[in-house]
Amino acid sequence: MDLTATQRDRAVGVLLGTAAGDALGAGYEFGRPLAADHPVGMIGGGLGPFAPGEWTDDTSMAIAIAEIAATGADLRVEKSLDYVVERWERWSRTAPDVGVQTRSVLSTAAARGICAQTAREASEARHLQTGRAAGNGSLMRTAPVALAYLDDESGLVDAARTVSELTHFDPDAGDACVLWCTAIRHAVLTGEIDVRIGLGHIDSDRRRLWEARLAEAENSHPSAFTGNNGWVVAALQGAWSAISTTPVPEDDPGAGNFRADHLRLALEAAVRGGGDTDTVAAIAGALLGAVHGASAVPSQWRLMLHGWPGLRTRGLAQLADRIVNNGEPDRFDHTYAVGRGTPMPVPHPHDDKVWIGAAHSLHSLDATVDAVVSLCRVADGHVPAEATHLDVRLIDQVGENANLDFVLLDTVRAIELLRAEGRTVFVHCAAAQSRTPTVAALYGARRQGLSIDQALREVCAVLPLAEPNPDFRAALRRLHAAEEAR
Ligand SMILES: [Mg+2]
Repeated sequence: MDLTATQRDRAVGVLLGTAAGDALGAGYEFGRPLAADHPVGMIGGGLGPFAPGEWTDDTSMAIAIAEIAATGADLRVEKSLDYVVERWERWSRTAPDVGVQTRSVLSTAAARGICAQTAREASEARHLQTGRAAGNGSLMRTAPVALAYLDDESGLVDAARTVSELTHFDPDAGDACVLWCTAIRHAVLTGEIDVRIGLGHIDSDRRRLWEARLAEAENSHPSAFTGNNGWVVAALQGAWSAISTTPVPEDDPGAGNFRADHLRLALEAAVRGGGDTDTVAAIAGALLGAVHGASAVPSQWRLMLHGWPGLRTRGLAQLADRIVNNGEPDRFDHTYAVGRGTPMPVPHPHDDKVWIGAAHSLHSLDATVDAVVSLCRVADGHVPAEATHLDVRLIDQVGENANLDFVLLDTVRAIELLRAEGRTVFVHCAAAQSRTPTVAALYGARRQGLSIDQALREVCAVLPLAEPNPDFRAALRRLHAAEEAR
């Protein structure tokens, strides 16, 4: 399926949003609801104990689904489901936080030889014996299924229920996965949230019930669902309550407020709801990422995110990209333009501990550089392994960046924080023409209290090819409007 740049940003946002919510909620799992002004951060701890920024079972189990979907395989095929179940079972042997229902199904199935068939039978048997098979453990990991069927809504409905039933046989769990996946798909394709878009795929005798559950979530505080949000229905309600009752900020770049902040604010609200915080926030994060995009996930979170099986945000983004490419490999040309006057790194005119330049210099960085901010795509292994690395989604084309103002300010704040930690930072794009001077000018203007025009002039004077595109120049004026007025 051919996606626009903003649709692709939203597709990647599905996995980054899941991981961000998961890691944000990890340190608060099974806590009480928190006050609206209680600070929430990626503090780590929880059931693991997890490192700050480390995701938990929610994202890990989703990654197993994403891995096979990223080969282009159909998730409804038994061979694909075998892969998923085997991957979960191997992961569960060392994972500190496997859900009760998932562990029971996987260990029963493993005793008979782990595969999709034995898992499905164990899942059904548990449902028939206990009548309590509607935990939130299949909803929390369902997001990648939506990415695999962006071009096929009925295929998505089948796949969401099929993958859910591997461990969670109760129809409520399958319904929840269908509703959430169809909402994620719709948000990736259109940029709009409509949590009811999939109601037509729910059996008519249960549809009314789900309509009432969604309405209840919209009319309740997220903490209303804390007491039983291990149940899939309350987990979905808690996530939807956090999203739907958190106001979407108006874009006001001069004041530093952005529509994109809704992703962060709603995830914080989900965590403050208490209870199964990482799972509720992971569920919310998938839909929030689908509507606001990966570019709305704050850089401070992206720098911290990591987890099983040894991935960071870059690995999650690659998985999402390969899923929506139907398994086709990335054909992006990573050979950077050299020559034609492409500049060598130079010190930023307003801070000599920030170097600015082009991507080809990644191979020959000064030894003092210990943080790299990449404003263009870079290949694995092109950034020195020991440096802190921030990938920024910024496209040097007019109209292609959904959250342009947010991304520019968020990136400059990340550079400011890296500098406050005493780091020496290399900021680069492909050729230091448009993206690098734009970010560098905003950094300089904020640091020295300069007008944006003066800062941009002084940055462009040291980068021979610098010529920010008109979109970026307009964004700089909007972002610096408040400073200029002062
Ligand atoms: Mg978890």
